[in-house]
Amino acid sequence: MFTFVKVNLVTGFISSSDWYTMSMGRPRGRFGRVNGSVEGFWFSHVRWVFDRHHLTEKCGEANNVSDLRKQIFYRFVEKTYYFHALAQAPVLYLAGGFPFVVWGGAVRIVAYLHVTFLVNSVCYLWGGRAWDTGDLSTNNWWMAVVNFGEGWHNNHHAFEWSARHGLEWWQVDATWGVIRLLEAVGLAKDIKLPSEAHKKKMAL
Ligand SMILES: [Zn+2]
Repeated sequence: MFTFVKVNLVTGFISSSDWYTMSMGRPRGRFGRVNGSVEGFWFSHVRWVFDRHHLTEKCGEANNVSDLRKQIFYRFVEKTYYFHALAQAPVLYLAGGFPFVVWGGAVRIVAYLHVTFLVNSVCYLWGGRAWDTGDLSTNNWWMAVVNFGEGWHNNHHAFEWSARHGLEWWQVDATWGVIRLLEAVGLAKDIKLPSEAHKKKMAL
């Protein structure tokens, strides 16, 4: 949930804001299986966003987001995400004029989207693997620095339900730090992490 709230309310743009992109953001399911570099770098980086017909034809409809479809919050976001993006412009303009709209709106959204897309392209081509996930996902340390922990993508595919992506003490994961903070102030609970038994089962 944290990822989708972050994407929709902070960036206010299309990444992971409709059922198609939400489905692609998850490792499991038919869409999840083509997530990666099997179609080439540019397809995995950004073309998949626009070439929905190709993926739907190849993999069928998004079938791994039924839990999100049931929640009123996500149905609301899915119906209104263009409004979230557009509503930021007048607020930014009032705060600092046109430069704020350009740097705080357009540039920020483009930069954020490409950092997000890099998980799909770079984290299937370069990096190491720690788990037997049956796909091409990798752990890439410099991506983890750039995108706040999501670069530990092989970890994420092995334990998709884990709140923590950087599973070793040296695996930098800023998002995990935020979750720990939310837990400390009582805003996050029942946090899921892989046990030693889970790790043993997935080890290469
Ligand atoms: Zn992935």
